[in-house]
Amino acid sequence: MEAVVFPEPDQVELREVDRPDPGAGEALVKVRSSTICGSDVKILHGEYAATDYPHIPGHEWSGEVVEVGDGVERLEAGDGVAAEPHVGCGECPRCMEGLYNLCEHYGEDEHGHAHIGFTSNGGLAEYVAVDTRALHTLETMTYDQGAFCEAAGVALHAVERAGIDGDDDVVVIGPGAIGLCAVQIARNGGADNVVLTGTREERLAPATDLGADHTVNVYEVDDVVDHVTDLLGGKRADLVVELAGTETASKQAVEMARRGGDVVLAGSTSAGRELNVDLREIVVGHKNIYGSVANPEWICERGLSMVERGTIDVDPLLTHRFALAEFEDALDAFQEREGGAFRVMLYPGQEPSEIDRTAVQRE
Ligand SMILES: [Zn+2]
Ligand SMILES: [Zn+2]
Repeated sequence: MEAVVFPEPDQVELREVDRPDPGAGEALVKVRSSTICGSDVKILHGEYAATDYPHIPGHEWSGEVVEVGDGVERLEAGDGVAAEPHVGCGECPRCMEGLYNLCEHYGEDEHGHAHIGFTSNGGLAEYVAVDTRALHTLETMTYDQGAFCEAAGVALHAVERAGIDGDDDVVVIGPGAIGLCAVQIARNGGADNVVLTGTREERLAPATDLGADHTVNVYEVDDVVDHVTDLLGGKRADLVVELAGTETASKQAVEMARRGGDVVLAGSTSAGRELNVDLREIVVGHKNIYGSVANPEWICERGLSMVERGTIDVDPLLTHRFALAEFEDALDAFQEREGGAFRVMLYPGQEPSEIDRTAVQRE
């Protein structure tokens, strides 16, 4: 089968590799839609310590079950499925709490842990064999929509870390695919005002149609914290969700929250970033600061339900389509944000001539 392989950090190849066999508790899935996110770029550059090379990336994908291993009853050949990346050991205290994203046996496949596309081979390949605990059944959704399983789950978990009370003023920082999911979750979760801030006009633009009351390009205002406060009628926000992954964004997130308000920091997953804030902001501000990573507690299932109902519209976030053989072009489009790229989708098993390019919606 054809697969994208990172032979070692900073190298990409399209290779013929052996098709995996599903082990006990696993399903073999023929990948139909598979996308790229910022984590894949970190893995490519060797910035993710737990990844062994050679590695097949891909953790945001969907496909069709073609075979199941011993003991699998929930799924059968022909089922459409979407994957979430974390499979916990199921036995450690964190897994028992449902927080399998925090599994204490992280990276230890002998304990049954897998982080698909990170510590085990992923879905940028024609086939992938994974534990069925990572798979959610697609009923009426398309494979493209299913490939947003992880993005929707990450956004939902980040918002739910603090939760929204009706009438809350919510700020989302970071207009990527996850940020635009978070905007919709806030809007449909009863928020009063929803503000999205970012640095790229073309990525802020779709947010208005998706429920943001205001978008702010941080480069076009003198002081973004003051500007957002003005937009909220002179008040600071009840909830700020940071998904931009920079020190500046995290500092702004803390400062934008009202006294007693909530701040969720979910963007910075790389080493070496520090939070440089006057601690009185947090202490005297009596603020609740949450970290949020990934999507535990089967939350992707609820995220997918929101996609299915249209509570989260992911269709505008799919901007480019490529064959698997065009992986490097796809990566360039994603990294360079060509045409305002949000998510670029790859289609294993399809030739470049078969790809419907009409998904490119913005220039
Ligand atoms: Zn991702
Ligand atoms: Zn565990």
